[in-house]
Amino acid sequence: MDCIFCDIIEGKSEAEIIYEDERVISFLDIRPVNYGHTLVITKNHYENFLSVPVKELNAVIKAARKIAEAISISLKTDGFNIVANNGTAAGQSVFHFHFHIIPRYNTDKFHFRPELKNYSNGSMKEFADKIRTAVKK
Ligand code: 5GP
Ligand code: ZN
Repeated sequence: MDCIFCDIIEGKSEAEIIYEDERVISFLDIRPVNYGHTLVITKNHYENFLSVPVKELNAVIKAARKIAEAISISLKTDGFNIVANNGTAAGQSVFHFHFHIIPRYNTDKFHFRPELKNYSNGSMKEFADKIRTAVKK
C-alpha cells in the first residue's frame, strides 16, 4: 500500500519531525497555510477519524494539545485551527488520518467562510432526530 505518511514514519521519506511517542508522530506540513502548519498522525495506518481506535485517538488528541501549545508559544500566534478532513468530499488528500494544526494571526488573509444555510420550518428537528437515533450509546 502506498502511503506517504507511512513512508515518513518508516524513515523512507524525509520530514521535519516535531514530536514522536509510542503511538503518534507529528511533522511540518510541506505546503503550509501559514508557516509552522503541523500534522499530527497515528503511527498505525488508519484511513480516517472513524477508523482510529479510541485509545489511539486519545493519544493523538493529547499530542495535538502539546503541539498546539508549543506552536502558540513559539510562533506567538493569535490563534490556531485544528482541522481534520475526512473523505474526498471534505478535502482529504492523504488517506492516513491526521489533524492539521494551523497557526493563525489577526493579520492573515485565510478565511473559511462557506455560504451558510438556513433550516426551513421543522427541518432542524428532523435533522436532529435522524442524528440522535444514530448516536451509539
Ligand atoms: P489533507 O488534504 O489530506 O487534509 O492533508 C494532507 C496534507 O499532507 C496536505 O496539507 C499536504 O500538504 C501534506 N503533505 C502531502 N504530502 C506530504 C509530504 O510528503 N510531506 C509532508 N510533510 N506533508 C505532505
Ligand atoms: Zn499510512
